[in-house]
Amino acid sequence: MLEKLAAAGMDIVRLNMSHGDHASAAKVIKSIQTLNKKISHPIAVLLDTQGPEIRTGDLKTELELKNGSVISITVRDNVDVESTSIHINYDDLIDTVNVGDRITVDNGIINFEVLEKKSDGTMTCKVIDGGILKSKRHVNLPGIRVNLPAITKKDKMDILFALEHQVDFIALSFVREAADIAELKELLGDKIGKIKIIAKIEDQSGVKNLEEILEAADGIMVARGDLGVEINVAEMPNVQRRIVRLCAERGKRVIVATHLLESMIENPIPTRAEVTDVANAIYEEVDAVMLSGETTVGKHPVRCVEQLVEIAVITEAITGLEFTKKLQHVNDKQSLAVTAVDLAESLSAKGIVVITRRGFMADYVTNCHPQNTRIYAFTNDSQTRRRLILNRNLSAFRSAFSQDPEKTLQTAFDILKKKAGLNEGDKIVVISDVLAGTGIEAIQIRQL
Ligand code: PEP
Repeated sequence: MLEKLAAAGMDIVRLNMSHGDHASAAKVIKSIQTLNKKISHPIAVLLDTQGPEIRTGDLKTELELKNGSVISITVRDNVDVESTSIHINYDDLIDTVNVGDRITVDNGIINFEVLEKKSDGTMTCKVIDGGILKSKRHVNLPGIRVNLPAITKKDKMDILFALEHQVDFIALSFVREAADIAELKELLGDKIGKIKIIAKIEDQSGVKNLEEILEAADGIMVARGDLGVEINVAEMPNVQRRIVRLCAERGKRVIVATHLLESMIENPIPTRAEVTDVANAIYEEVDAVMLSGETTVGKHPVRCVEQLVEIAVITEAITGLEFTKKLQHVNDKQSLAVTAVDLAESLSAKGIVVITRRGFMADYVTNCHPQNTRIYAFTNDSQTRRRLILNRNLSAFRSAFSQDPEKTLQTAFDILKKKAGLNEGDKIVVISDVLAGTGIEAIQIRQL
């Protein structure tokens, strides 16, 4: 299946650590490593932490909850109360919520209102929106700061696992402030820069502290599954737009996630609204669109990826819809990348070639969002290549670097002609600090 998904256009595999264990995650990583030896465009791996997540307990049988009925919720887990109470695995729940607050379960499908808090670790709640409750459903407490650490014990184990297995990205769940990212960086130690950090924005604190989080992280995931429950869902499109714009301004990567093709979990075709939602994310010039349930429990995983690719290709074919952005020039390298992109666009160059060891210059070029020119990054490091896969409008290749800069360039040009569909005589703009000696950047106009 991974091979089929890769052939359909998948670029990155997400390991959601809320599900599965290290053995199953290691198996997926191994399969991807094997696959990467066979295919021309490697697949990157993103490990997504569970974070301070709250869930309902295990149920022997599903529970039908009727609108208007009154139920009991307990935080005590080893008592035989499952027949009369619903267990929630958050010890501080009763102290954290107030009478009148909303508790929402299973991504907002089932909702309770707190009626009465008791001193025996239970409380009574009214069922506002009923439904069938299954085991281990996700619980949200909208607007309430959950008293759990940003990086739990389990997350720490998962992050160590990520380091051991050299994943390319770590997505940190429920990032509430920049300090959460700082804590992750401490755990990464000397691997900072090798593994890109994606902050998942999925609650009100994350939205409030967006600017400082963005400063600390390499990119943002608009995690709409939780976000759509934690904030007023009608405000979610505005929040998505604000996040995407801010990422464009600050030169950060951005992923729009969840419910993109939700109906395709069951159906072979998407709804019209889903297609428009995906297209809107692409008009906004996000780096990536991410499927969740569609490719895990869905009936049509390959079709979902094909559908996403088709929407992206057709949507991107339209010109003149440039998403207005205002990139901040954070340093001289960024300014140089802006110059290279302006040059390439004004010359109608067929490509912008970036020769890069650690990928930084390729990131600066990506930040400029070239409209009509594709970016081709060449690196001699496999991990750099994989983590550049997230960058929009960029194809990354691995190529040998020579002591002679001209040889390095000719190797890259050969690859462009063999693998990227460019032709002899095509005009390109080259930007690199590998060409003119360490640390000296150069921009060249060349013909293949
Ligand atoms: C989300 O909430 O949209 C999300 C991507 O996170 P998870 O799938 O881990 O709940």
